[in-house]
Amino acid sequence: MSDCVHLVRKLESEHSLTLAEYEILLRARDETLAAQLRERAVQVRQAVYGNTVFTRGLIEISSFCKNNCYYCGIRAGNLKAERYRLTTEEILECCAEGWELGFRTFVLQGGEDPFFSDAVLCPLLRQIKREFPDCAVTLSLGERSRESYQALFEAGADRYLLRHETADAEHYARLHPASLSWEHRMNCLHTLREIGYQVGCGFMVGSPAQTERELAKDLKFIESFRPAMCGIGPFIPHRDTPFADHSGGSVELTCYLLSILRLMQPNLLLPATTALGTLDPMGREKGILAGANVVMPNLSPVSVRKKYALYDNKICTGEESAQCRGCLDRRMQNIGYSLVIDRGDPKTI
Ligand code: SAH
Repeated sequence: MSDCVHLVRKLESEHSLTLAEYEILLRARDETLAAQLRERAVQVRQAVYGNTVFTRGLIEISSFCKNNCYYCGIRAGNLKAERYRLTTEEILECCAEGWELGFRTFVLQGGEDPFFSDAVLCPLLRQIKREFPDCAVTLSLGERSRESYQALFEAGADRYLLRHETADAEHYARLHPASLSWEHRMNCLHTLREIGYQVGCGFMVGSPAQTERELAKDLKFIESFRPAMCGIGPFIPHRDTPFADHSGGSVELTCYLLSILRLMQPNLLLPATTALGTLDPMGREKGILAGANVVMPNLSPVSVRKKYALYDNKICTGEESAQCRGCLDRRMQNIGYSLVIDRGDPKTI
């Protein structure tokens, strides 16, 4: 325990620990240490971002996916999954509604749906940027070729969110079929960075076969990669996947990791995810109070929200966008934070 106090101090002052030290810090997790990390993380977060919370409007553009990730509810092999894709007009309507509500970042997320080729996406991106020039567009559409990433960037995409899922190649192979490779996903992240995107990586907390060892590797990878954003949220099983019977991740461990990430990289954009809110009605508040500074309310048309089911019991599937923003606004106010109308770029420090 006293060793770990030393590690917390080192992390805060040097923004770096060895792989072994991250593992020790993870294995030593208890409520005292969590409280200490939380306290330091909140202070660092206050110094960089004050009590503001950035928002991103999440538009779930397609539930079609050609991949078969073992954990994901919209995997190709799930024949029970309901499939939909939004039209260009529907996506633009979501943006217009979002802009009125105060969103200045739109995240277009979906399964790897070949329908959304560059020929479809590039004109859409140009139109979004033309109609909403003060907004940032984030894409979260999985692995694509360098040429495609380049074309989407030139058409106006500012950011790309591609969780690395795990920094351990063998662990990656436990979560994905052989057709998907860890090396390829990691290469995509480097390519996105080279092209000029603000890049987000991330991983699920409590995914099957994950131990402190894998988590320590995730932390070390993030420390060296220095993403603009890092999305972490608990793994939540989906009933129609091979991982249906696995237990999910915990809110406590997710918050512990959020605090560590805040100390490691003070300006990191860290969302308190919908998955946190799904596991615990106060999950997103707990995430913010552990050092997160971003929330991603749902902007998708209500009619498709239940169909974009990556995991079971997803929240906010019956609410209008306005309600989602209003609800989060109140929740943040209740804990002393406030949503801002801003693109939410990382602060340079
Ligand atoms: N197709 C895109 C978007 C994936 S959905 C891509 O490949 O990047 C966004 C994230 O949701 C995934 O990266 C994964 O980390 C997470 N996710 C998928 N299934 C989940 C589950 N059952 N529980 C929690 N998170 C999940």
